Amino acid sequence: MAAPMDSSVTTDIGWRFDNSYARLPQRLFAQARPAYASAPRVMLLNTGLADALGLSLGALSPDGAAALFSGQAIPAGAQPIAQAYAGHQFGGFTMLGDGRAILLGEHLAPDGSRVDIQFKGSGQTPYSRRGDGRAALGPMLREFVISEAMHALGIPTTRSLAVVATGDPVYREERLKGAVLTRVAASHLRVGTFEFLAAHGDHVALRALADYTIKRHYPAAANAANPYLAFYQAVLERQMALIVQWQLVGFVHGVMNTDNMSIAGETIDYGPCAFMDRYDPGAVFSSIDAYGRYAYDQQPLIAQWNLARFADALLPLLDPVPDKAIELATEVLSSAGARFDAHWLAGMRAKLGLSNAMPGDDELARELFMWMHTAAADFTNTFRALATGDAALLAPASDQRFAAWHARWRGRIAAEGVSLETAQQRMRAASPVIIPRNQRVEETLAAAEQDDMTVMHRLLEALATPYDDRPRDAAYLSPAPEDSERYRTFCGT
Ligand code: AMP
Ligand code: MG
Repeated sequence: MAAPMDSSVTTDIGWRFDNSYARLPQRLFAQARPAYASAPRVMLLNTGLADALGLSLGALSPDGAAALFSGQAIPAGAQPIAQAYAGHQFGGFTMLGDGRAILLGEHLAPDGSRVDIQFKGSGQTPYSRRGDGRAALGPMLREFVISEAMHALGIPTTRSLAVVATGDPVYREERLKGAVLTRVAASHLRVGTFEFLAAHGDHVALRALADYTIKRHYPAAANAANPYLAFYQAVLERQMALIVQWQLVGFVHGVMNTDNMSIAGETIDYGPCAFMDRYDPGAVFSSIDAYGRYAYDQQPLIAQWNLARFADALLPLLDPVPDKAIELATEVLSSAGARFDAHWLAGMRAKLGLSNAMPGDDELARELFMWMHTAAADFTNTFRALATGDAALLAPASDQRFAAWHARWRGRIAAEGVSLETAQQRMRAASPVIIPRNQRVEETLAAAEQDDMTVMHRLLEALATPYDDRPRDAAYLSPAPEDSERYRTFCGT
């Protein structure tokens, strides 16, 4: 059932919609209407993000906000659609599309940026297949928390503007509360969007989509000798830089299917993701990832695999001669590992307080991770302890391996001619104190389930300044107890 237009509700909070995606070839989308919600109620609003977008939430009554952010009242200028895409899911190719998401359009923010405004969990679309198009409250709140934490960490990500409980149940293994998340993204163009058109063999639409994406996200590529090849290279660069940022904070996305890889280079589709506590290169949290395809240490390789699928889709645009197109794409793709390594090493130097490059830095960084693995050291707290001079807390004096590493690291800093204190000051800007630790996130969701949002607000406040050491945030620093059950996450359906 589609939501009736409620004309008594004001939705005029400063929206400036354009619908450029809906002007692309027809095959890329279908009209869709958000479903009726029987008792919408606001659970979370992101006033900081709204302000940045030039949206005045103050103009809304609580009922107005609930109606707006559950899709009961569609703002003027919005043109709701579901986007078509395909994807390699756990390696297998499928035609997909927004089965539980509806794009309202692009909002033009006062700073000149263009952002997608999308509802997630707002009911069925023509692409829902057998799904109900709905989302449960817990996973939508979880996406809000983790995406906002990523943003505060400085990691490119989609953002969350609101979560509204619909008042209607969703049925999974159990009966759950339904909710709609309002997501804000640079765009929802995915590797899978290109795969969709390539699978249809629609090269006219493929070219239109590539031109559109270049104009929207990679305008410099338009001036290159081969714009589509420059575009591919630029996407690869952003993607590898993004994955490095995940690796440097211990973030595991959990479901890096090609439909969940944003061409704009943002972290997108928060499902079974989690931050690790103790360092484990094989960390997997997703309940459906039995073989560890999307484990922490696989993320760089999976990103490259996905970029190879992206290249497959772009081949017809790269060169009219198929063998030449493959050659061009292969050459760019083969640079991905080196691009990853370069970003990683630069990031690790910052985390270790090193401001210039010296031979052996890579090994120094890798040895620390090897020690962290054998010592089951907490990822976040290890780097923070190095940055605050509390390294003695990390390992007992009897840990010769750590002692040797630590001495080598201090010698490396001394070789730059700076004091340890100066280096540590810089390090504190490169390693967070506060990450959304699993048990802390879970406790906010449990409280929210009982309509207590205070626990959530406290966590969101702490996550907003992840690099600041503040005594009042001490409760957010501890990893889950060693003997606690292995943390499992479920796809946000
Ligand atoms: P995800 O794992 O969330 O990235 O979703 C993969 C695909 O399944 C996307 O095409 C979604 O739109 C679709 N999907 C996920 N959950 C649902 C649902 N409850 N109803 C309909 N489609 C869904
Ligand atoms: Mg997805």
